[in-house]
Amino acid sequence: MVPGERGRLVYLAAPRQVELMDFEVPRPGPGALVAIVSRANVCGSDLHIWNGLHPTVKRGAMGHEMVGRVHALGEGVETDFAGQPLAPGDRISVTYFQNCRKCRACRRGQFNLCENAYRHWVQPPERPPHFNATFGTHYYVHPDQYVYRVPDNVPDAVASFANCALSQVCYGADVAGVAAGETVVIQGAGGLGLSAIAVCKRRGARVIAIDGVPYRLEAARAFGADEIVDLRAAETPAARIKRVRALTDDWGADVGIEVSGVPAAFSEGVELVRPGGRFVSIGNISPGQTTPFDPGLLTRRQVQILPVIRYQPWYLYQALQLLSETIGRYPWDAMIDADFPLDAVEEALQKSASREVRRASLVMG
Ligand SMILES: [Zn+2]
Ligand SMILES: [Zn+2]
Repeated sequence: MVPGERGRLVYLAAPRQVELMDFEVPRPGPGALVAIVSRANVCGSDLHIWNGLHPTVKRGAMGHEMVGRVHALGEGVETDFAGQPLAPGDRISVTYFQNCRKCRACRRGQFNLCENAYRHWVQPPERPPHFNATFGTHYYVHPDQYVYRVPDNVPDAVASFANCALSQVCYGADVAGVAAGETVVIQGAGGLGLSAIAVCKRRGARVIAIDGVPYRLEAARAFGADEIVDLRAAETPAARIKRVRALTDDWGADVGIEVSGVPAAFSEGVELVRPGGRFVSIGNISPGQTTPFDPGLLTRRQVQILPVIRYQPWYLYQALQLLSETIGRYPWDAMIDADFPLDAVEEALQKSASREVRRASLVMG
């Protein structure tokens, strides 16, 4: 590190109002490290915050997906969280939340529910170490964040979404216990959905993907979906339930995974799953949006509902390994379709919100 070195970060001053701020790059404290951000993606939840729709977060530093390089290591940091040696210049992926290991949730082994998950992220950016989010030139990785080296054969653009969507569905598949020979129905074929298809296929499951956007359906096939239910052909919940049952010997899928973010998909999903099956809720993350639900039907069908928020941090390692092993097999590089320099962050957010681009990536170098 050069003394007096400065970096820039994106600050959300008010809904839809971003500005670039400039701060001195801090030296990492014991157990921490400072990364140079190579790429940071615009994710749905970033847009949510940018639009002022987050229940509590209205301003602050932005960004959580990233891939970067080690810039400086704090005292005591010699390896990543898998024990692999770590040195300046190494490419890394990092959990975007903290795991304090001391709170009530962490003490029960539920690291994904850590009560201090966003302790640093919500700090005002003028407070050192400033770089607590990923839309910037640098990123301060605190001692309670799990960091892993990115396998050499995984390019930056592919590694950049490992710490969000892919890790979450790897965790979700384990929570549901997706097993070889089972049928999984996946509602939504965006970034989460395509990741879920790849994860479930690798576990030996048969996959039915539901979406209505042509390029997503095409991508679903490329990621290995065995069957497609096109929303344009099956317009009503009843039509989709009928179609999925027809594809599953008139029973329903063993597992359902909701990654559409549409509240009504929750009620529908319970009926896409067979009696005694499991239903994983991932996409709906905004409290306050309700949908009619039939609890009697749930009881009669004895479907287990398994919500999944964030992920246990070691799933990031698993996600990176999965990318490394399947890099030539699935079109992972097609997940990101638009690169922007940091200065064009506003354009990246606007074009993502208007869906002119599917997945924007800020490229810092
Ligand atoms: Zn994300
Ligand atoms: Zn905790």
